[in-house]
Amino acid sequence: MSRTALVIGGGIAGPATAMALQQAGIEPTIYEAYPEGADGAGVFLTLGSNGIDALAAIGADGRATADGFATPEITLRGAKGKRLGISKISAANGAPSRTVRRADLYRALYEEAAGRGIPIHHGRRLVSAEQSGTDVRATFADGTTATGDLLIGCDGVHSTVRGAVDPLAPAAAYAGLISLGGYTRGVRVDEEPGSYTMIFGRRAFFGYAVAPDREVWWFVNLPRAAEPDRGELAPITGEQWLRTLVDAFKDDAGPAVRILEATPVEQVMKASPVHLLKRLPTWHRGRMIVLGDAAHAPSPSSGQGASLAVEDAVILGRCLRDTRSHTAAFDRFVELRRPRVEKIVKQAARINNSKAAGPVGRLFLDSFMPLILRAAANSAYTEEVYGHRLTDEPAAAR
Ligand SMILES: Cc1cc2nc3c(=O)[nH]c(=O)nc-3n(C[C@H](O)[C@H](O)[C@H](O)COP(=O)(O)OP(=O)(O)OC[C@H]3O[C@@H](n4cnc5c(N)ncnc54)[C@H](O)[C@@H]3O)c2cc1C
Repeated sequence: MSRTALVIGGGIAGPATAMALQQAGIEPTIYEAYPEGADGAGVFLTLGSNGIDALAAIGADGRATADGFATPEITLRGAKGKRLGISKISAANGAPSRTVRRADLYRALYEEAAGRGIPIHHGRRLVSAEQSGTDVRATFADGTTATGDLLIGCDGVHSTVRGAVDPLAPAAAYAGLISLGGYTRGVRVDEEPGSYTMIFGRRAFFGYAVAPDREVWWFVNLPRAAEPDRGELAPITGEQWLRTLVDAFKDDAGPAVRILEATPVEQVMKASPVHLLKRLPTWHRGRMIVLGDAAHAPSPSSGQGASLAVEDAVILGRCLRDTRSHTAAFDRFVELRRPRVEKIVKQAARINNSKAAGPVGRLFLDSFMPLILRAAANSAYTEEVYGHRLTDEPAAAR
């Protein structure tokens, strides 16, 4: 019986997994590469009904979603303002999806895990992991080591654990998009609080959600064919980004330019290239396993990466609780998770391709996007993705 686990990564999957393992009677310890908290961790994301339900299964939904707001659907528009369709992003029965600042979500999960007595060590970047017949040893960049019965890789899309599990594992691929976003107040938009709108603009993709206090939360996916070099985006100032983005959206209908012009430079969050991991052949070896983005990073267009990460956490906890060995538990985990996540990754890749399309491809968007959306908005698919309930599921055993 496995009693201790080294959980690598303190993002979303990490704390969620640690809490699920603790419920299963295993003692987890979290090791996070960054020296401290979640400040500066991207802009915001939407937790699907399914992700909220998965958080509820580990009793962490209240705190994790407290600072966000309900966004049950997304209105999609073309560059000329035409309404392309409505994408339902909530289950018919269940909590509506909620949009939360990423930093708030990370902090809430961290506090929830810490409050349950789970040790969390910051500034511990895993560099390698070796296993023997009886345990697994992690070595960190600061020269320290830790030993446990299991090592769970929750270390995101650029996972180090993935390479320890399988040295031939594919690396994450650049998705052809730069992502950034920000916040602004006092700008006029026609939409009501709780609305979420996305615009397939001529040169880039713009999304904005209106918070209950009418603050506008926005993000941009900017196509760029060449992957930026490491560190290339960091020196670009908020002011420079705002100029670039105003230029990108100046020929589109809708409030993008107005929102950007009203955004204070200090409210423009860090830009980052988007990476995906389409299919990972091997998720576990011996005492090590990967989950969340380390195992399957869908395009952000899925709106599901975080929710899937929490689902993984809950299911892994149940598999370890309900099976006799970690090997059987890991096999069962993959059996339960792979079909679902790969279906979602595939569907999201189609939308990502249209976002990253060049100027010519984008010209056709207004015509073919409704077709893609019709497939995506298929209510059976929406229910399959967002209506997936873990609070009802008794056990992972066959
Ligand atoms: C632009 C964008 C928008 C998105 N929007 C949404 C959305 O609306 N809805 C949604 O559900 N998902 C969204 N996602 C996806 C979502 O962010 C991810 O799927 C989710 O964060 C995955 O959680 P994770 O814990 O697996 O990885 P992460 O959240 O990336 O956490 C990984 C953690 O591991 C740490 N780490 C990395 N390497 C090491 C190491 N060697 N040692 C120790 N620690 C390490 C990192 O510092 C990090 O804290 C979006 C993603 C992007 C890029």
